[in-house]
Amino acid sequence: MIESAANMVSASMGEVPRSGAVIAIDGPAGSGKSTAARRVALALGLHYLDTGAMYRALTWWLQEQKVDLTDTGAIVARIAEPKIEVGTDPRHPRIDVDGQDVAEPIRTRRVSNSVSTVAVIPQVRALLIAMQRDIIASAAASGAGIVAEGRDIGTVVAPDAAVKVYLTANEDVRAQRRSAELGDPAASVAAVQQDQARRDERDAAQLAAAADAIRIDTSALSLDEVVGRVVAMAQSRAVPRG
Ligand code: C5P
Repeated sequence: MIESAANMVSASMGEVPRSGAVIAIDGPAGSGKSTAARRVALALGLHYLDTGAMYRALTWWLQEQKVDLTDTGAIVARIAEPKIEVGTDPRHPRIDVDGQDVAEPIRTRRVSNSVSTVAVIPQVRALLIAMQRDIIASAAASGAGIVAEGRDIGTVVAPDAAVKVYLTANEDVRAQRRSAELGDPAASVAAVQQDQARRDERDAAQLAAAADAIRIDTSALSLDEVVGRVVAMAQSRAVPRG
């Protein structure tokens, strides 16, 4: 069984996106979307949803269960078993599987290199997208709104999102960011670049910018600049608070 915990976060003062607004941030690995999305949510007092963490959590669990990841039938037979819980407070993003905090193990290279194989399976996508839509709908209904990030948020998960952003960055910058993020000396930039190219290829089916998404190339931008641009976009569609 899969559940969500949409924790309330307090809204900051000033201009905020329309009540219950959904901000979709998509892009490839290393485009800087996770950190940027979380910072945008913090700046605007919105919930935050990292959909990649859900695909990672399921992949981690399947690996723990020693399910053969080359056997689609074996994967599909087990996907309803783990209880995956996602927290949406951007101050404390949380991802638990069967009550265990898996925030760290889902970031290992072992999971990163297998997650696309699992994420491409239609039954996996149907299950996790349904859960993502529930989380987004409950955040929107609470009036707080949410920043959701992934590969297909603006196109499939939340095509009605008020603001859609597609972040890109050149390959070298993406690999450098991922390598620094991993903080693992074994994960050299060259090795990360190879892993990334493989993952990009497998993720290609999911990864697309919505026709109405604003593209931002983050290669030469600081995190503050990226966050500033997205916040400004959200506020340009905002209503004064109170
Ligand atoms: O964003 P992150 O790199 O953590 O995502 C891990 C993997 O999960 C991606 O490489 C992709 O295979 C899958 N994913 C997806 N759809 C999403 C988010 C992630 O297929 N919305």
